[in-house]
Amino acid sequence: ARAVLLDGRAVAATLREETAAAVAALRARGREAPALATILVGEDPASHVYVAAKHRACEAVGIRSLDHRLPGDVEGERLAELIGSLNADDAVSGILLQLPLPSQLEASEFIDLIDVGKDVDGLTTANAGQLWRQRDGLRPCTPAGIIELLDRCGVPIAGRHAVVVGRSDLVGRPLAGLLLRRDATVTICHRHTADLPAVCRGADILVAACGIPRLIGVEHVRPGAVVVDVGITRTDDGLVGDVDFDAVATVAAAITPVPGGVGPMTIALLLANTVAALPSTTDKDR
Ligand code: ADP
Repeated sequence: ARAVLLDGRAVAATLREETAAAVAALRARGREAPALATILVGEDPASHVYVAAKHRACEAVGIRSLDHRLPGDVEGERLAELIGSLNADDAVSGILLQLPLPSQLEASEFIDLIDVGKDVDGLTTANAGQLWRQRDGLRPCTPAGIIELLDRCGVPIAGRHAVVVGRSDLVGRPLAGLLLRRDATVTICHRHTADLPAVCRGADILVAACGIPRLIGVEHVRPGAVVVDVGITRTDDGLVGDVDFDAVATVAAAITPVPGGVGPMTIALLLANTVAALPSTTDKDR
């Protein structure tokens, strides 16, 4: 048996078309195109690549992008001022603070300066709280992208046992919250979990978000499970996920490829969130 591929690239393309149509509809009603402001601090090469990719993705769907850059040795006060001015600027619908920040700046402190309504990464304490309090709000892009991918691939969530490996603020924790809201039974694993393979074998839906290449092997996967791989690590043999794809694909019912699985969905959700962040356009809840 060979697992069905959960084709994030194809699903993300459909979602981006829907976002482009939503932007076009806004413009046809005489409204401004939404605008995403990105803030890039310092010279991290990977971050430059990511921000450039986000700008290209925005432009392709008609979202304007505003590029803000600060030197790596910038004072926190200066970054705080910039965030404040973007919060106050009605022309800015979404604000994205590219991570990681240089080590002298504490990321969470600056994320929490972002206006909740413009927090298109869904990473402010306020939006995280809204999720766990079961209220509407902007959701982190990777977890929201995973839910969207499962939905659009026809994977049922309610009543299933979902096991999430990883408890980061960016992925594992908010994903667990979203799965819980969709009535899954949720288990969160982390580096202190005893007998990880046994816990993972209980999963109907297994999500690997631990950043350890090929940690998840056949011994972690119940035959017929759906496996979602969030990891992406650059190694000598190319980009590798947290799942040993070739082995796991022989037992899983469905699996996301790396690349081409969760990654494209993350960007598609950033675009969808930027449109959703506009006052009174769509339902922000996902
Ligand atoms: P991401 O941004 O993809 O969520 P992070 O590096 O921020 O990744 O977080 C890694 C997460 O993976 C942490 O929550 C950590 O507890 C978890 N983790 C690390 N090693 C293991 C392991 N051996 N088994 C299970 N979970 C692990």
